[in-house]
Amino acid sequence: RLLQLSKIKDPEVLKKTIDELASSLDNEIGDVKEGIEGCIGNTPLIKIKSLSEATGCEILAKAEFLNGAGNSPKDRVALSIIEMAESKGLLVPHSGDTIYEGTVGSTGISLAAICRARGYKAHICMPNDMAVEKSDLLLKLGAEVERVRPAPIVDQNQFVNLARVRAASHTAGSDKPGRGLFADQFETEANWRAHFTGTGPEIYEQSGGRLDAFVSGAGTGGTISGVALHLKPKLPKLKVVLADPPGSGLYNRVKFGVMFDPKEREGTRRRHQVDTIVEGIGINRVTHNFDIGRELIDDAIRVTDNQALAMARWLVENDGIFVGSSSAVNCVAATKLAKQLGPGHRIVTLLCDSGARHLSKFWANKEVGGSENDVSLEAILAP
Ligand code: PMP
Repeated sequence: RLLQLSKIKDPEVLKKTIDELASSLDNEIGDVKEGIEGCIGNTPLIKIKSLSEATGCEILAKAEFLNGAGNSPKDRVALSIIEMAESKGLLVPHSGDTIYEGTVGSTGISLAAICRARGYKAHICMPNDMAVEKSDLLLKLGAEVERVRPAPIVDQNQFVNLARVRAASHTAGSDKPGRGLFADQFETEANWRAHFTGTGPEIYEQSGGRLDAFVSGAGTGGTISGVALHLKPKLPKLKVVLADPPGSGLYNRVKFGVMFDPKEREGTRRRHQVDTIVEGIGINRVTHNFDIGRELIDDAIRVTDNQALAMARWLVENDGIFVGSSSAVNCVAATKLAKQLGPGHRIVTLLCDSGARHLSKFWANKEVGGSENDVSLEAILAP
């Protein structure tokens, strides 16, 4: 191109050609993302060296906390919900439409960030026992936040029900501008599809199509179902394993086909009454997003709060990885599975969000596991 320039005699033509060349070079600049939406997906797959060395398996974790809008896998889901609604004409950017959602936090944060970018309002209903960092962050992102008492799904004021009611009353006619849309992450197919078309294919590519197991907790179930639906047809021998915290009925659902096993006291109690410090996973109903992949889940592993706390500390001390509670649960289950399968297997799990979002609750727990130096893999895996 420089040679071409040197041959141009006319100064006007030369200037025009230089300008054109400069602007084409501008457009060629490396890897520029289109807004925060462009920073969603294509997260790295990280080998957790300490756990891999300790188990003789390769334990790989999809670093979903590096999604660049709301910093969790829910970025994929929020974008998928919004784009599906826009394609159906249910939402119009910059029209003042409001998105309503019931969430324990992550989906709300992802929605609130993308709402800002696209000119929507976000109205978030969440249980009031979730880490306060999440509701603070939602407010800073400009969302309207209603924190409600934890309640069973049959209660009208349960956070998901309340969000549905708020959206319906907006649409039915209020003084608010635009329309109201209930995002409905538990039941919408936009959720599992985001993982079916994003997380699943990325895991397959990044692990070279060679993996023995996929381990994940389930809140809505969108992640485990979407990933399983993509991977199982390609890898029929793949084991898909649910990681489940105290009080959740999903463990029993997978193991015994019923939500509540009378022999297991924990599962007979309602999740909202169980004092677990784990947020975002564990539930006592079968949502559409769990149901769609349910048949593909081969096994379930129960993880206690103590084990999750010890694992969170282990990951910081050995790998410099600072995660929240659901990621810690995933890593305990992946390690337990590695012990079951024996050395030489490749296990993929998820790191969902950062510990920074759990400082006041999960990370504020000091009583479990003794001194900071007391974190051993044996302690983590102990019942
Ligand atoms: N981790 C965190 C931090 C979450 O907020 C959630 C969803 N509530 C999950 C994991 C579970 O993902 P899914 O809803 O796809 O089952």
